[in-house]
Amino acid sequence: MSIEVNRLCKKYGEQWAVNDVSFNIPTGQVVGFLGPNGAGKSTTMKMLTCFITPTSGTAKVSGLTVGEDDMAIRRQIGYLPEHNPLYYDMYVKEYLGFVANLCGITKNVPKRVAEMIGRTGLEREQAKKIGTLSKGYKQRVGMAQALMNDPKVLILDEPTSGLDPNQITEIRNLIRSIGEERTVLLSTHIMQEVEAMCSRVIIINQGTLVADDNISTLQQQNTSDRAFVVQFKSPVKASELKAIKGIKTVSVIKDNRFRVSAKADVNLQEALFGFAVKTNNIILEQKEEEQSLENVFRTLTN
Ligand code: ADP
Repeated sequence: MSIEVNRLCKKYGEQWAVNDVSFNIPTGQVVGFLGPNGAGKSTTMKMLTCFITPTSGTAKVSGLTVGEDDMAIRRQIGYLPEHNPLYYDMYVKEYLGFVANLCGITKNVPKRVAEMIGRTGLEREQAKKIGTLSKGYKQRVGMAQALMNDPKVLILDEPTSGLDPNQITEIRNLIRSIGEERTVLLSTHIMQEVEAMCSRVIIINQGTLVADDNISTLQQQNTSDRAFVVQFKSPVKASELKAIKGIKTVSVIKDNRFRVSAKADVNLQEALFGFAVKTNNIILEQKEEEQSLENVFRTLTN
């Protein structure tokens, strides 16, 4: 296991920021870490990266224990904090050389720095002062910093926050390629990002774990209603569909095309076919709507 979290707790004063959270992440997974603001994501990430100590419970990274093997964990881990701290007066290349020294790299530092610059697409910016870079490029410098020690585990706290759509795509592609070889735990508020990059999601709310599963399972489990988009060949009134037994809502999309919902245990497909046969109509299209991850998130954290 790359990350093992067992009954982890962190208390600030009277408040439990993280309360009895457990999960395991095997090597080579990209996992989305979700939760509303204040849920305890950053606190969990700070414990995993040995920045703060747990109040109780244990956290292990590559088999090493937080609070006991902190220096060894730091050598194995790459961390991009939410507010990516950088030295704005340093030049990109100079800063990354400094990071290499901090990581204890003594041989071939320029080669390693050049590798990281290439990996994160910073070639054209390497001679610039960090303070003059756009937010997207500053984020790439943060990624280069996090990757410098060739970490087995990467912890990324909102890596795409504040970036424009092009920068988001580039950082996502970078994370996806990194995730092919190592374990990535990333927090984000962007659900499409999770769907695009992660095989699994862990959701916490008010310090407590509320879900840990792959995306499709979560979408199937957390739905009490099913919805279909259906199109008929001949005219149909919404009121006629509404009268079908078991149907809860009907909305018109456009001529003869409707969105129809029913409780998950109603066989909506059969009901719609039955209606078409009975009224001598033909169904041109019928497809089930997928429960969005956004809805799942709202259901679990509201
Ligand atoms: P998230 O990253 O999910 O937005 P955080 O882990 O930052 O959530 O915060 C969880 C809770 O812990 C919040 O209520 C926050 O105010 C509180 N908290 C975080 N850091 C501290 C701190 N250093 N001192 C006191 N409370 C804190």
